[in-house]
Amino acid sequence: MAGTGRIKVKTPLVELDGDEMTRVIWQLIKDKLILPHLDVRLEYFDLHLKVRDETADQVTRDAAEAIKRFGVGVKCATITPDAGRVAEYSLRQAWPSPNATIRAMLDGTVFRRPIMVCNIPPAVRSWKKPVTIGRHAYGDIYAARELIVPAAGTVELVYRPSGGGEERTLLHEFKGPGVVMGMHNLDRSIRAFAEACINYALSEKTELWFCAKDTISKKYHGHFREIVEERCKARTEDFAQAGVSYRYFLIDDAAAQLMKHEGGMLLALMNYDGDVWSDLIAGGFGSLGLMTSVLVSPDGKFEFEAAHGTVRRHYMLHKEGKRTSTNSVASIFAWTGALAKRGELDGTPDVVRFAQKLERAVLDTIEQGKMTQDLARLAVGFAAEPLSTEEFIDAVAACAAAGYHG
Ligand code: NAP
Ligand code: MG
Repeated sequence: MAGTGRIKVKTPLVELDGDEMTRVIWQLIKDKLILPHLDVRLEYFDLHLKVRDETADQVTRDAAEAIKRFGVGVKCATITPDAGRVAEYSLRQAWPSPNATIRAMLDGTVFRRPIMVCNIPPAVRSWKKPVTIGRHAYGDIYAARELIVPAAGTVELVYRPSGGGEERTLLHEFKGPGVVMGMHNLDRSIRAFAEACINYALSEKTELWFCAKDTISKKYHGHFREIVEERCKARTEDFAQAGVSYRYFLIDDAAAQLMKHEGGMLLALMNYDGDVWSDLIAGGFGSLGLMTSVLVSPDGKFEFEAAHGTVRRHYMLHKEGKRTSTNSVASIFAWTGALAKRGELDGTPDVVRFAQKLERAVLDTIEQGKMTQDLARLAVGFAAEPLSTEEFIDAVAACAAAGYHG
């Protein structure tokens, strides 16, 4: 490809820049791996925390609108400010998580999938293919109301339909102190989650496992199951065409199955299960630096990113001029994922091929024993010498250049 000019990407790609060490990596990836080979118009939004502060977070909302308009975005990790960050960056306020804002605006579901490399074995011996997690990221305990019950008394759930009337359920007759929680979800959101999971499973041709606990929670979890199954039933033909199937599992059964399964499925999980299991899966497959993440909206918009954060500890070293060894693999795969999707939607197979070749170059580089510190600790075969952040990206660039000519 080099020598034949840069490959043209038809539709603009929405780019969301970010913070700290991942911002450093981001620039290196663009300069060394992407822009020398692609003629691509980037709709650029700078989500650096200072810019979010200066624009009262308008830049985040504009970026989400651009993803809705163009269809595909690629995002660098960003700081979600807490009180410490408000002081550190002299912020006007603790702006919300950009990921939460974008997810809400796209009504999307986040899918996390590990990148597998031959010489980094997963913790579970039977895992041969990546296990993907689709987490329903609305409601449940994340939007619950809680009450400490200080002493004996009655707690009820009360529903007052706007048209009048009332329905009550006794939650518990407390004889002494305790605690209660009320949580909710919305049919609209569950349906969007189901659609996004189905779209992902069909497009990636992977089995879809929806896991919950409807034997115990017959109404709450049962309602989720009903909606997911109703959506799957409506897409029966699509499943058949893609050659994949839908299965329901009790969550504890799925946990046991997973430990002896070869992987390769999409686990569609309720909010809390998805939160916990995504970290379990990330840990089981090696490093956070190997975990990719994609936000998929029910109407088929995509935002690709790495699952990890801004790697602050490494950034502090970088600022002091010290050597860092930060893994850029998940960030590179955010770019390749976005470009491959862009190429697929645009009908430009050379863009898809470029993304595939770059991914192959990343894997080849690691399999040749060239990797960052986090992976060197886990690699089998021979002792790998950890490369610096920049050395690793240079090694990938060299390997990719050979591949493009081949
Ligand atoms: P983090 O950036 O994920 O890093 C936590 C630790 O995991 C690092 O210190 C490092 O361990 C290891 N690690 C993560 N990614 C790595 C990589 N690519 N290469 C090598 N090691 C890696 O989490 P954090 O430091 O707790 O959070 C920093 C900021 O990120 C926070 O402000 C948070 O709001 C933000 N965040 C953003 C996103 C997002 O935008 N999607 C997601 C999560 C967090 P060692 O220190 O042991 O080397
Ligand atoms: Mg979590």
